[in-house]
Amino acid sequence: MPWCDTCDEYRAPTALTTSGTCAACDAKVDVADLKNPPTAKAPWHFWVMVAALVLYLGWRLIEGIIWLVQKF
Ligand SMILES: [Zn+2]
Repeated sequence: MPWCDTCDEYRAPTALTTSGTCAACDAKVDVADLKNPPTAKAPWHFWVMVAALVLYLGWRLIEGIIWLVQKF
C-alpha cells in the first residue's frame, strides 16, 4: 500500500495520479511496495512437514496393500 508522508495517510493505488504522486497533495508517494510486493514464500519447516506427510501416507498405502494381499 503506497504511503504519503505529507498527508500521513495510506493512499490506494487508484488514488494516485498517473505519474505516481499523491492526488491530494501532489507529493511523491513511496510506491516501492507496489512494484515489489512481498512474495509469499513457504518456510522451510512447511516443506519438512509436507515431506513427512508424503512419507507417512506412502507408508500407510504400502501397509494397506500388504494387508489386502494377506487377506486374500
Ligand atoms: Zn498526500
